[in-house]
Amino acid sequence: METIRIFNTLGRKKEEFKPLKKGRVLMYHCGPTVYWTQHIGNMRGMVMADLIVRTFEYLGYKVKLTRNYTDVGHLTSDQDEGEDKMEKAAKRDNLSPEQIADKYIKIFETDTREMNTRPADYKPRATETIPEIIGMVKKLLDKGFAYETDLAIYFDVTKVKNYTQLSGQKMEENIQDAGKGEVSDGGKKHPADFAIWFFRAGAHKNALQYWPSPFKSKLVKNGAGFPGWHIECSAMNKKFLGETIDIHMGGVEHIPVHHSNEIAQSEAANGVKFVNYWLHNEHLTVNNKKMAKSEGTSYALSDIKEKGFEPMVLRYLFLQAHYRSKQNFTWESLEASKMAYQKLKDFMVAGKEGKLQAPITKLKINLKSQIQKYREQFIGYISDDFNVPGALGVVWEIIKDNSLPYLDKKKLILDFDRVFGLGLDKIKKERKEGIPVAVEKLVAKRELARQNKDWGKADSLRNKIYDLGFMIEDADGKSVIKKIE
Ligand SMILES: [Zn+2]
Repeated sequence: METIRIFNTLGRKKEEFKPLKKGRVLMYHCGPTVYWTQHIGNMRGMVMADLIVRTFEYLGYKVKLTRNYTDVGHLTSDQDEGEDKMEKAAKRDNLSPEQIADKYIKIFETDTREMNTRPADYKPRATETIPEIIGMVKKLLDKGFAYETDLAIYFDVTKVKNYTQLSGQKMEENIQDAGKGEVSDGGKKHPADFAIWFFRAGAHKNALQYWPSPFKSKLVKNGAGFPGWHIECSAMNKKFLGETIDIHMGGVEHIPVHHSNEIAQSEAANGVKFVNYWLHNEHLTVNNKKMAKSEGTSYALSDIKEKGFEPMVLRYLFLQAHYRSKQNFTWESLEASKMAYQKLKDFMVAGKEGKLQAPITKLKINLKSQIQKYREQFIGYISDDFNVPGALGVVWEIIKDNSLPYLDKKKLILDFDRVFGLGLDKIKKERKEGIPVAVEKLVAKRELARQNKDWGKADSLRNKIYDLGFMIEDADGKSVIKKIE
């Protein structure tokens, strides 16, 4: 099996991937808090995880992917302060938190399907995992890693070694991220301590979602409350994948708090290493700035479609930047991706065409090694920390290579598309109203000739098309075909 090298946030270096079980990958991806339509920055995170899953599968691994839905307990600030995001949304949309979850999960699933991401094997909701969460909180209390106040149960970060191992931060820096000095609960011992259970009391006395628990607070009956956000992922991880997993992924913003907390509580509760490889994707910016609702740049997939771009164009854009790099979105860059993707689609339906430069006999001998060379290049890229942009470059090299017959090129590209996920196997000739098939064929041939920079051939094909009563205008790298009036 191919050696895969992965940049592990834990340790901050590339390491050879060694699965827990040969040929298998247990992977957890932090899913969305389902209180709003996910913006394209979140979509990029989903596509990045998808490329990683697809790479493993291409290389022969069986991947078990869990992606959760957070539908309770994620407060407007990640620092245990503020309102529950679900409740805020419930008030905004005049729905119950359950209806909010249903609504935004549906949108998320439609969007991720349209982005052609492979669905997760398990998609648990936090609210469906309450018994397991309570079990883990109880264990942490029993083992002395957590303590109760009347408002919440906190994880005591001073009880674990290496709380900041993932971020590499000093504790004082972490407190900046974790606590920001705001402690609305006087019983909280350390600013970085985080709530694993909130009682339905204090700021949360009117919480809409709550469950009875075995925990004790003077302020509520039956320990009523709801889980903190971080513990949910630990409990769902354990329930669906086990105590130790191969890969855990999420956005870079999760490193200092959410993922550090997941490690602390999982390892404290289970007594074994939690995750072998931590992967973090960088963010998408818009016009080189953080996406922001207030600036109108928090685009959703629906905005992209409304402007006439198909979801695969956005996916193509995402393929052009490595998951550990920031990517900047502009409408111009999306336009450029549209053109490139269109070229790729044109190539896939161009038909049996190919200008062979080498003599056939010589070609037969070299063909196999040539194909092998491209395949090795492709695998070299994807197995080096999932370098998809590099792998995409191989595709364009193949298209330009005049020594390979068309059908072999197409076969190779379709094979690589198992990783890219651009749906190239489903590309059909786009029939344009009122344009005869014969003309369409000539247009496709001309497009190919242009890609091969065979200008003479392209010109003679343009003349043939003209003879059939149609003319071609080339604008912005795209050919527009019109009937001669
Ligand atoms: Zn998580």
